[in-house]
Amino acid sequence: MDLGLSGKVAVVTGGTGGIGTAICKRLAAEGCVVATNYRSEEKAAALEAAMAEKGWKIGLYLCDITDAGQCEKMAQQVEADLGPVAVLVNNAGITRDTTFRKMTADKWHAVIDTNLNSAYNVTRPLINGMLERQFGRIVNISSINGQKGQLGQTNYSAAKAGLHGFTMALAQEVARKGITVNTVSPGYVATEMVMAVPQEIRNQIIAQIPVSRLGEPDEIAQLIAFLASEQAGFITGADISINGGHHMGC
Ligand code: NDP
Repeated sequence: MDLGLSGKVAVVTGGTGGIGTAICKRLAAEGCVVATNYRSEEKAAALEAAMAEKGWKIGLYLCDITDAGQCEKMAQQVEADLGPVAVLVNNAGITRDTTFRKMTADKWHAVIDTNLNSAYNVTRPLINGMLERQFGRIVNISSINGQKGQLGQTNYSAAKAGLHGFTMALAQEVARKGITVNTVSPGYVATEMVMAVPQEIRNQIIAQIPVSRLGEPDEIAQLIAFLASEQAGFITGADISINGGHHMGC
């Protein structure tokens, strides 16, 4: 199916990470002109090389998404270099797990800043252009643990649940202007974040997943590409689970 993404400029945050790289590759395969932020020169070079192997370019912008000023600068630079942004995927995220009684303010704020406040920082400088052009596709990457809560993750569950609140409110504000805003909530996906979990615990997690395996980053990326397409114009304000049946319902 042609998703009609050819030539559209897409900004993906956290493109150097497991799911982010898959999203960059999938959107490039669909014809998007893709840009991402980075913090490490080494990871940026590795992503650039992985994209080049397939014959794709990627715009790379040094930017910490917890810094609103840097995000504004990145948005301006992307539009100057590549053109108006049509697709935004707020994907970058971190975990800092611990029980609430041991939760330091640093861990709390780092996770809220990176997973939730960043959505404001990155989306705010791009939304007016989308409104003027009457087209936009925004996808926010939440988590199964924002839907159901997870012990040891009060910070992460709060940020990810909050992200879907942001999705629903913004979706209502911009729906008449051709912009959709959706949340994608993955379950456990085979990236470094999850492969770093000890194998025994990983096996216990897999035993709880009806399809009996972890998700693949490209499975998440394919859903995002569809949500970014022209064809997905009637889907907005949704929280789409992609978790192998691990958690059903909202
Ligand atoms: P990774 O750790 O592999 O990638 C995270 C990305 O975010 C990296 O590119 C990282 O950059 C970037 N990042 C983190 N903090 C910042 C910051 N302050 N400024 C700029 N960039 C930053 O994670 P995944 O690919 O596994 O996860 C991607 C998203 O999917 C996250 O939002 C995560 O919460 C969510 N998710 C993941 C699941 C999984 O099973 N993996 C399950 C459910 C949701 P750097 O390399 O410089 O650190």
